[in-house]
Amino acid sequence: MASNMTNPANHLPYFFGNITREEAEEYLMQGAASDGLYLLRQSRNYLGGFALSLAHGRKVHHYTIERELSGSYAIAGGKSHASPAELINYHSEEADGLICLLRKPFNRPPGVQPKTGPFEDLKENLIREYVKQTWNLQGHALEQAIISQKPQLEKLIATTAHEKMPWFHGRISREESEHRILIGSRSNGKFLIRERDNNGSYALCLLNDGKVLHYRIDRDKTGKLSIPDGKRFDTLWQLVEHYSYKPDGLLRVLTIPCPQLGSENDNVVFNSRLPLPGTPSKSWAGGGIISRLKSYTFPKAGSKKLQGTIGHSPDEAPFNPYVLQRKRGLTGAEKGDQREALPMDTEVYESPYADPDEIKPKNVTLDRKLLTLEEGELGSGNFGTVKKGFYRMKKGAKPVAVKILKNESNDPAIKDELLREANVMQQLDNPYIVRMIGICEAEAWMLVMEMAELGPLNKFLQKNRHVTERNITELVHQVSMGMKYLEENNFVHRDLAARNVLLVTQHYAKISDFGLSKALSADENYYKAQSHGKWPVKWYAPECMNFYKFSSKSDVWSFGVLMWEAFSYGQKPYKGMKGGEVAQMIERGERMERPEVCPTEVYDLMKLCWTYNVEDRPGFVAVELRLRNYYYDISH
Ligand code: ADP
Ligand code: MG
Repeated sequence: MASNMTNPANHLPYFFGNITREEAEEYLMQGAASDGLYLLRQSRNYLGGFALSLAHGRKVHHYTIERELSGSYAIAGGKSHASPAELINYHSEEADGLICLLRKPFNRPPGVQPKTGPFEDLKENLIREYVKQTWNLQGHALEQAIISQKPQLEKLIATTAHEKMPWFHGRISREESEHRILIGSRSNGKFLIRERDNNGSYALCLLNDGKVLHYRIDRDKTGKLSIPDGKRFDTLWQLVEHYSYKPDGLLRVLTIPCPQLGSENDNVVFNSRLPLPGTPSKSWAGGGIISRLKSYTFPKAGSKKLQGTIGHSPDEAPFNPYVLQRKRGLTGAEKGDQREALPMDTEVYESPYADPDEIKPKNVTLDRKLLTLEEGELGSGNFGTVKKGFYRMKKGAKPVAVKILKNESNDPAIKDELLREANVMQQLDNPYIVRMIGICEAEAWMLVMEMAELGPLNKFLQKNRHVTERNITELVHQVSMGMKYLEENNFVHRDLAARNVLLVTQHYAKISDFGLSKALSADENYYKAQSHGKWPVKWYAPECMNFYKFSSKSDVWSFGVLMWEAFSYGQKPYKGMKGGEVAQMIERGERMERPEVCPTEVYDLMKLCWTYNVEDRPGFVAVELRLRNYYYDISH
């Protein structure tokens, strides 16, 4: 964990650390706020990110610098740089979107160190450990889970992480707490936290010169925790961390957690390379109590997958996470179970073949005997039908959606189309894309896919007008993550629309329908169609219509239309217009209007996706970042 804590900007004289936007403005005013005067600070709401404060025209402008998945840094929508310093150098020569060039750094006054925000690194580590352990994820699956679910995870961590901390002793009496603290070592600053009642109030019990002091920790109306007249915190562990840095009103700082003898917390280990407990430091640097813990053990409560593989025979009723959630809400089940299902709780977050026990069959051809089909259709098209079924795997029967070719047509072109679709899908593996399980040739050609029970996004929103703006933002952000993955891997979708986004749960979207998709060749970043086909022209960018050229940038255009559909609750775009009329409207420079409930931030992004020139249109890296930030913003 220690390696995460070195800040890549600490050596820069103009880096102020975790100061507020107002403090930054004050500093720059001290420097007369001359045009181009700037300083760098830590982002306070974006993990691992920074903020650039720049004076221009007697005003201070603030820009967020994101840390991207790849570890590089960028101002939303801008170029990526290896470090914050490189980004600063670049913008000293190119304004590239900033109000003016960075002309002169405002350096820290003598004796002023960058201010450390002790909780950000801590929170990031807790979230990472929590996700890793609870859902047994690593690598990309872990990163994507954190990015897409950060607001939910922060909330989960805030409400549950303290339960696994060695200093948290639960509901014990005042006498019992004194008894526990006085056993064994009697170092000053030894402490524990106990629960006082069910209203969320606690007590901090602290050893001082052989006597145990009890400080009340109350929860105010807004849910914040504090000792009387003390600083207020969102979580118990932030409070503990704070008072292990400085006494701030207590008789002394917290030093070592009082152990719970014989408890399961024995596997909480101290990292001996970090400063040992018992040396109270005056500064904010160094590690607090939690930073010194090497590992935590989180409850495995969330690890039970919600979909499928419950029974070992296909006859057993499958789990429907949507119904499950609603049932839970009604019965008010136990605390940890009431939360909404996260994508990682479902059976389709990772590929079934990510499980080392499941071996991918050769050429992904499936054994017909392991597949059962149900009556009724999930959907249909001129290719045939899509049915629900179960595919028997090592770990149980997996619910699947099966695209079945019409047999009677016997048109080889249709079969080739299906095989091309399968070939594309086979190469993709991302939580926000419907995966192919395999292909099966039996009474008909069948494409077996992961099941997305709640169906197409447009239909779902038509039927569920209560879905909130935040929920829609969450879903379209997930789509942008899936599209970013496609862009990275040089695939163009060519049929991105709300009808081709399927829902696993109300909070989990996947991109589907790769019938028109193409893998790009190494030497071109676009696909050139030979002729005009049966195209979804209302979703197509001008270059598709005019030059038959398809790239990830033209998918970005379609994504803009998809966002419009989502925020219009599944309405048809360009209502009542013919394809040709839409093309003329776009050529005239006109665009669709803002849907009624669409936030301006999202509408601005839609219009950006509908930038006429391909070169000027953002890619999915920038689009995803913009949506992510907006989603985090409205989730706090
Ligand atoms: P088309 O090329 O005809 O648009 P799609 O792949 O979009 O074919 O599938 C048609 C319909 O079948 C979808 O709109 C959806 O209702 C259903 N469907 C397809 N794939 C799945 C899936 N993986 N899970 C659930 N339903 C699906
Ligand atoms: Mg479709």
